[in-house]
Amino acid sequence: MNTPLPADPTPPAAPPARAPLHALSNADLHCHSVVSDGTLTPELLAARAKAHGVELWALTDHDEVGGQERALAAARAQGLPYLTGVEISVTFATKVVHIVGLGFDHHNEQLVNGLRATRGGRGARAREMSEGLAQVGILGAYEGALRYAGNPELISRTHFARFLVETGQCYDVPEVFRRYLTEGKPGYVPHRWASLGDTVRWIREAGGMAVIAHPGRYGFTPTEEYALITEFIGHGGRGIEVVTGSHSAADILQYTDTALEFNLLASRGSDFHSPEESRVDVGKLGEHLSGKLQPVWTALSDRIHWPPSAH
Ligand code: AMP
Ligand code: MN
Ligand code: MN
Ligand code: MN
Repeated sequence: MNTPLPADPTPPAAPPARAPLHALSNADLHCHSVVSDGTLTPELLAARAKAHGVELWALTDHDEVGGQERALAAARAQGLPYLTGVEISVTFATKVVHIVGLGFDHHNEQLVNGLRATRGGRGARAREMSEGLAQVGILGAYEGALRYAGNPELISRTHFARFLVETGQCYDVPEVFRRYLTEGKPGYVPHRWASLGDTVRWIREAGGMAVIAHPGRYGFTPTEEYALITEFIGHGGRGIEVVTGSHSAADILQYTDTALEFNLLASRGSDFHSPEESRVDVGKLGEHLSGKLQPVWTALSDRIHWPPSAH
């Protein structure tokens, strides 16, 4: 007698309503609103992301989750799947690196308190920056920058840059950074941000994933970069941005290899701040993640907020 064939697996009760996550390609998991140093509201960003064909979105304001409720509601209204997001400023070996958090509980107390402490020094730093600028004849920069800060707790170098452009002292934002706001320049004030270990822990313990933001921007030596990645993984970090608005085509190839070498999940995001200033608009990244990579969202499926229309 023939052995009976195993029973067919039970067919699904209903056809799957959502596109499979591996088929999703236009994810934009890095951008900024007026809650940090962007110029658009979370609502306008959600509408722009939708209009540009974004299939999965995250708002990642600097050191602040105060825009997450608005972003979630706006994404829902636009029918846009959403992951909570944040971009945390970290001091690592005397340099500043940015760590993106995705898919966490934005009410988590430890995360919210940690971010509040990270933001804490920005006011005093901004006043010091203003004093430095006054010494080279630029007056009223603190008050000027503050006018641009939608969230005074998040006053940043970007707001100073906008003030200097508006008052005709520089042609554009990158020129302000080159002449006034980077190391060794009159408006630069070194600052102690969060530690890498605390940052990754806050994100993880709030249920999210930590991702190294725009690694190509730090100007690290291979040794420094190796130290960053191995320490990050040691703390439980799992992702790295490969396709971002601040990476060149060569950077994308390089960090594709890095992600594969260190077995990191790959992320994709424009780092959009403003229609006037940003090189890449939200949802308008030209490149997709290589098919060799495992995208961060495949490991965050249970953290995605699906809009009602996707059910
Ligand atoms: P802060 O957190 O106050 O040090 O400001 C950092 C922000 O300044 C970054 O998130 C970018 O938005 C912006 N930024 C940094 N470097 C540059 C640059 N070279 N050109 C334009 N914007 C920059
Ligand atoms: Mn920024
Ligand atoms: Mn950044
Ligand atoms: Mn950013």
